[in-house]
Amino acid sequence: MIFALDLEGVLAPEIWPILGAHFGIADFSLTTRDTADFSELMRRRVAAADKAGLRLADLCKVAHVVEPFLGAREFIDRLRSMGNVVIISDTFNEFADPLATKLGSVSLFSNRFETDQHGVIRGFKLRIRGQKERIVSGFKLAGFRVAAMGDSMNDLSLLRSCDFPVLYRAVQTLIDEFPEAPAVENLDDALALMEQARKKVDEQGG
Ligand SMILES: [Mg+2]
Repeated sequence: MIFALDLEGVLAPEIWPILGAHFGIADFSLTTRDTADFSELMRRRVAAADKAGLRLADLCKVAHVVEPFLGAREFIDRLRSMGNVVIISDTFNEFADPLATKLGSVSLFSNRFETDQHGVIRGFKLRIRGQKERIVSGFKLAGFRVAAMGDSMNDLSLLRSCDFPVLYRAVQTLIDEFPEAPAVENLDDALALMEQARKKVDEQGG
């Protein structure tokens, strides 16, 4: 069984708004609520970093200080005793790899930046955007049952394609879009749902 988790808003705070506040750059803090097109959003962020003379390393220095939410590591430890845990996120590995280590060296599937020889961000490879459903489908094709947890509209395809969806502190639009999925507000309740899922899988075999 595989537990596929979103990162930001679920296990740790959103990284871009932290960068926005730290460097005083409004374009960093924009969300998909402001600009629906994620590639366009990222182009604006990259342009803003370039304009401010910030290299990837400058952003990483701040991103790497971000800590998981209290209890997130213990949550993952518990899930690990029941199956494989992966994080599937629209963040960037360069920002969030240390977070994945802090969470207990969990596998992080996310996007990557492209930099020039000076470490200036020139682009990005969106390996996750729009691919969450495919990753889950791949796991399922390989015979795994998948439980997933997310908080935002960018998790909808992940949640819809898995066997056991959990909405965690979800935005209202996600709850409206997927009302049949259970919605919880804390990790204890989330864990209880994951344990139920594990039990169902055991009963059904798989
Ligand atoms: Mg999220």
